[in-house]
Amino acid sequence: MKKLIALLLGLTLMLAMVAACADDAPPAGGSDAPPAGGGDAPPAGGGNDGGFIGIAMPTQSSQRWIDDGNNLVQQLEALGHRTILQYGEDVVADQVSQIENMIVQGVDILVIAAIDGGSLTGVLAQAAAAGITVIAYDRLIMDTEHVDYYTTFDNFAVGVLQATSILDGLGITDGETGPFNIELFGGSPDDNNAFFFYDGAMSILQPKIDDGTLVVKSGQMGMDVVGTLGWAAERAQERMDNLLTAYYATDRIDAVLSPYDGLSIGILSALRGVGYGSQQIWPIVSGQDAEVPSVQSIINGEQFSTVFKDTRVLAESTVNIIVAVLDGRPGPVNDTTTYHNNVKLVPSFLSQSVSVTIDNWYEALIETGYYTADQFTF
Ligand code: BGC
Repeated sequence: MKKLIALLLGLTLMLAMVAACADDAPPAGGSDAPPAGGGDAPPAGGGNDGGFIGIAMPTQSSQRWIDDGNNLVQQLEALGHRTILQYGEDVVADQVSQIENMIVQGVDILVIAAIDGGSLTGVLAQAAAAGITVIAYDRLIMDTEHVDYYTTFDNFAVGVLQATSILDGLGITDGETGPFNIELFGGSPDDNNAFFFYDGAMSILQPKIDDGTLVVKSGQMGMDVVGTLGWAAERAQERMDNLLTAYYATDRIDAVLSPYDGLSIGILSALRGVGYGSQQIWPIVSGQDAEVPSVQSIINGEQFSTVFKDTRVLAESTVNIIVAVLDGRPGPVNDTTTYHNNVKLVPSFLSQSVSVTIDNWYEALIETGYYTADQFTF
């Protein structure tokens, strides 16, 4: 009898605890969600029943975003959460309607890598009205108070790594004084990151331009002039073609600051067209994302460097926030002073990236299990 009373008491206590948890928990997760993650799953599920997470990604034209989406889905499903993953394929209106649709389907949390960081104000007002927590993923969402968290890499540091690799490649780090000719490319002006990459790079390059070690023959500087709308490779290639014709018919170009591997491919192709890589050696060209074709290009001695952003790590920092929020706790962040979206400072979790050249690609990308050796010819 005593045993039965104890059992009943225990059961009542448990029910009370469950009810208390549910009270301060954010909007209910789908009740038909699978049970919480298995024992060897990543960061603790914290006992919530499984949430429903909407993931809006910008494009499948770049491998990194495919990896980002897959990593998020894998890590969330391993913890017992349900997900919807959609790609806007660089069409802003499509991304907005995908997000609207996720709101209608009743997601608890939205994870959004914006196509245009300034175009989501309306749809995020709807999300806020539905009590949905919004996490800006990798790209800051601008001009709205309805963004709760931001997970990204230290974007200024990415630019610093790109520019530092250019100084290394030109031998300036080891005392070369040039002068070397360089041209600058920026990312898409509708992506807040592009300004951080450019500013980070210029924090290293500007002093070398000022002292004459580097020369920008075109004089084209500043994001308003060197930005590449939509991160489009063909735009970068066209601009590089024009620069080569206008300023480098007789002089050699020694380096190109490129903020993203996709643009580097366009830039290298323009350079190849006028004999770099055959009649004369390649300029030092930077990049970002360590995408397979660009890593192969580095192995081939064409592109000089890239910046590896481990999307597994970025997904993990995002999942940690999701788990905490579903548990009714604040999400873990490590920066509350850098990312202002024109309305508020957005609490952020910044991860670190790694500069990759021919010297460390195997160690950085293969030994870490990010890629397998058979994806490359070397
Ligand atoms: C990302 C970069 C990427 C670029 C183009 C940026 O927002 O941070 O990693 O290279 O978008 O997709």
